Amino acid sequence: MGTTRSKPIERLLFAQGGLCFFCNDILLPADASVEHLVAIAKGGGRHDENCVACCKSLNALLGCMSLKEKLRVVLNQKGDFKCPNGGGSRKSSGHHQTKLAGIKAVDERVALVLADLHKRGAARPRTVKTLSSTINALFQKRLSGAEIALLLGRLQAAGAISINETKVSYTLVT
Ligand SMILES: [Zn+2]
Repeated sequence: MGTTRSKPIERLLFAQGGLCFFCNDILLPADASVEHLVAIAKGGGRHDENCVACCKSLNALLGCMSLKEKLRVVLNQKGDFKCPNGGGSRKSSGHHQTKLAGIKAVDERVALVLADLHKRGAARPRTVKTLSSTINALFQKRLSGAEIALLLGRLQAAGAISINETKVSYTLVT
């Protein structure tokens, strides 16, 4: 078809406007994988008509289910499909917000949280609970509890915060 986009994943992402086929969230090439609707193992082809680009997490879940089973997975979400990676709601209010919440790399999230904490100066949350909700709000409430816990762990490991039972103290230089 005269396209210069030779890699299937790039072609598919382009055709899908850079969004995951299933959850409609912004999908970076690094987080994308090619899902064969009819699995190769079940006789599906590798041509684009049998392929979509979607979040890696969902691709792993679908594995080599039959197309019928995959449809059931999709239908079970009752129209509000989210890939199992914490992102994926299409109910967000703006493009910028979608992009922010779509950041999946932990390091990028940590950097965002640190930048936000720096901005807050003396008004930083003092308890684990308020810090968790601050982080949650920063990512438009799209993170799971486990993801927030992971971020808190990273912040501690980076020496940015220390947690003493329910209290948080900051060792960042401001
Ligand atoms: Zn997705």
